[in-house]
Amino acid sequence: MHYISTRAPHSPTSERKRFCEILLEGLAPDGGLYLPETYPQVDAATLTRWRGLSYADLAFEILSLYVDDIPADDLRALCRKTYTEAVFGTAAIVPLKKLEDGLYLEALSNGPTLAFKDMAMQLLGNLFEYELARRGEELNIFGATSGDTGSAAEYAMRGKKGVRVFMTSPDGRMSPFQQAQMFSLLDDNIYNIAITGVFDDCQDLVKAVSGDLEFKRKYKIGTVNSINWARLMAQVVYYFAGYIQATQANSERVSFTVPSGNFGNVCAGHVARMMGLPIDRLVVATNENDVLDEFFRTGVYRVRGTADTHETSSPSMDISKASNFERFVFDLLGRDGARTADLFGAQVPRQGRFDLGADPAFAQAASRYGFASGKSTHQDRLDTIRSTWQKYRVVVDTHTADGLKVAQEHRQAGVPMLVLETALPIKFAATIVEALGREPERLAQFVGIEALPKKVRVMAPDVQAIKDLIAQACA
Ligand SMILES: *Cc1c(COP(=O)(O)O)cnc(C)c1O
Repeated sequence: MHYISTRAPHSPTSERKRFCEILLEGLAPDGGLYLPETYPQVDAATLTRWRGLSYADLAFEILSLYVDDIPADDLRALCRKTYTEAVFGTAAIVPLKKLEDGLYLEALSNGPTLAFKDMAMQLLGNLFEYELARRGEELNIFGATSGDTGSAAEYAMRGKKGVRVFMTSPDGRMSPFQQAQMFSLLDDNIYNIAITGVFDDCQDLVKAVSGDLEFKRKYKIGTVNSINWARLMAQVVYYFAGYIQATQANSERVSFTVPSGNFGNVCAGHVARMMGLPIDRLVVATNENDVLDEFFRTGVYRVRGTADTHETSSPSMDISKASNFERFVFDLLGRDGARTADLFGAQVPRQGRFDLGADPAFAQAASRYGFASGKSTHQDRLDTIRSTWQKYRVVVDTHTADGLKVAQEHRQAGVPMLVLETALPIKFAATIVEALGREPERLAQFVGIEALPKKVRVMAPDVQAIKDLIAQACA
């Protein structure tokens, strides 16, 4: 299997890479995102055989189609080490919860940080450790987080050989639970840095440090952001696992609704559908930051400025642009790298938008690729959290509530709708209290985590001071 960039011209000279070459890379050198050259096809006999597999072995089968430069026994061992009941809470890993006939939640948030990002990040931690050891190299992950991504990365990389994580976050801005989750990690290779500023200050630091190419090369600076192909690939697995649980035979179809921000989660659904998984619709649910809903309704992709980006009660979906969206547009345009490069490399940076509304390809987003979309507001979240509790005695988090609200608008008779549960309510307790008048339940292992010893250093947004810290840690 080879990987190409979404901005590569279609010619035999365009650069093709193998999995382990792109594993530790971010963007392709031409600014595009990596995708497999073709989507491997899963036939009915194979899908039937997969029905009997554990989650870890299903992951191995799917990953094997995309990874041919790690020996099979090693890849299987990595999958089995990653997807365990001890880490993900249940033997099913992603159990379906039936709300009523034809409506399910697929639980993706029982990993260590209680959000779906663990599903991919836990695998990434093991893949990084494996590949770095094989190369005899080290990696310093330097990132910025306002919550879920940073903690998922830290829990995935803690104690891993060859990897250090330097994670900046805006001082005092994360929820007390999120702060406790991250700052109570005492591992030597984890560096929590609370920046006296806002999230943008943290992101500017990352840009400044990564932009110093000499420093970046010398200290092996890397990232784990959502454009990493390995994360997307790991997420493909739970679409298959959800389908297998919801159906008896391969003639049945299901739909998924996906609470979306950077389009990473639902892009994995698109890949699963392209592989032949019988998915009817992929419904993209957004919050007030409706960049994606606007595109699927009108064909206009319009990046929002900072002033237009709302802080909402489903904060992990608060985006101004959707970093993985380019992958889908590349497929939608018949894999035309030159056109994709023009849209994302020229039109978006210059005009902040592009418009495919009049392009015949746009109609295919729905008709050929199964996409639909909808939007949910703070009031919708409160109403959905309340009605889901009253009707089914289930408490959902704010992101999952956005998904459920939009899913209701797209249900079809005879096609089960699976809503991806992307976080547990305890992470966003304030809104649960607002909706239900009481605190969400807390699993025993999280009781009292706010009182645990913390390891965090508070620093000003000073590029040189950060560089000194990284250099010292590597000395
Ligand atoms: C990251 C995240 C999302 C958005 O996922 P994308 O892959 O960015 O679309 C939704 N819900 C939760 C809880 C998240 O952490």
